[in-house]
Amino acid sequence: MQIGKNILESELGQIPKVYAITVFDGDGIGPEIMTPTLDLLQRVASLFGSFSFEFKHVPAGAGHFRDTGEALPKTSIDAARAADAVLLSAMGLPSIRKPDGTEITPQIELRFELDLYAGVRPVRVYSGQSTPLADPRADQIDFVLIRESTEGLFAHMHEGQIHGDEEATETLRITRPVSEKLFDFAFRLAQQRAIKFDRTARVTCVDKANVFRAFWFFRSIFMERAKAFPEVEADTAYVDALAMWMVQKPWEFDVLVTENMFGDILSDLGAGIMGTLGLAPSADIGDDAAVFQPCHGSAPDIAGKGIANPLAMILSAAMMLEWLAVEHDDQDLAKAARIVDDAVGQNVVAQRHLTGDLGGTANTIECAASVIANIEKLVASSIGVSDKVV
Ligand code: ATP
Repeated sequence: MQIGKNILESELGQIPKVYAITVFDGDGIGPEIMTPTLDLLQRVASLFGSFSFEFKHVPAGAGHFRDTGEALPKTSIDAARAADAVLLSAMGLPSIRKPDGTEITPQIELRFELDLYAGVRPVRVYSGQSTPLADPRADQIDFVLIRESTEGLFAHMHEGQIHGDEEATETLRITRPVSEKLFDFAFRLAQQRAIKFDRTARVTCVDKANVFRAFWFFRSIFMERAKAFPEVEADTAYVDALAMWMVQKPWEFDVLVTENMFGDILSDLGAGIMGTLGLAPSADIGDDAAVFQPCHGSAPDIAGKGIANPLAMILSAAMMLEWLAVEHDDQDLAKAARIVDDAVGQNVVAQRHLTGDLGGTANTIECAASVIANIEKLVASSIGVSDKVV
């Protein structure tokens, strides 16, 4: 642990490494959870002293579409492309729609623009955390769902056909290049987790290969790529059975990899296991860019009340720190990621300063402030920081 040293070096004039973060504040509860998350990141940076963040706020979303007719300006895409990483809050509002009736979804368009094929959605229950699952093994749940995020049933979104009043069609697309990259990503993640947990790595391909040829193709590519990772167990599951097992025995999963639409649905089921969408972070990773955002939407039913849970946004920021740490070989960022994660876990397990969705009475700012207080204590003592990574 180098924190004391870094603070000292900073005081003596060490120049912190600056990370450029493009920020999308979003719609509904989006800005309410983004503001305290950025405050938290600034506090973490000032405690460590060896790195800092330069936040560039750019417009996109339903509100921007209402005001300008544009949902995701090109300048915002360019800013996302130029950044070291992107933080994106919840976007879209059911009351603001395109002429064809669909919602404004710049968060999905950005995945296509930046080729963010791997949607990483960790599902983890902190030891001692209460969950909707009664089984005592529930607090061993720690798996990662990887949702392919640039094709599948979303490949031709907004292009579905409605034929008169009688029929509608949508097209699902699976390609070899994207599937190969996706599966390689899943196998590599499982290898890293095997080292972390000191156990055999396992990746499960989740599909519907018994009915759809496109999923048979998907599964075949998975089995081909598995040969390049002989030390990783590769198995397969049909999505319907997998959905049941996510309730019956989710502690048995390691890494799950699946198509876009299946991943969309299963990740909300994962959030349900954790007790709330307000605890579900995500990362959308590509070869050249990464976007970090909570799994949940803009929650218009509670927007403006100041009661949204900021923890999924904060945990997404922790995933960003972890990703930047690897990309830039920055050990302090890796340590900061673990501290933020542990600081959230302390409150969740102790049921302290939680928002209403987790049974508490705290508002958004109180919840985030309490996590920041935990971070300050953890940094000060450097004790209690686990070796777990997000
Ligand atoms: P989308 O399709 O855009 O992902 P959604 O239709 O799944 O959105 P959400 O906006 O995610 O809907 O909200 C689903 C429910 O979860 C709502 O009741 C909302 O209030 C609640 N919810 C979502 N995020 C949070 C949060 N951060 N804190 C508290 N409650 C939340």
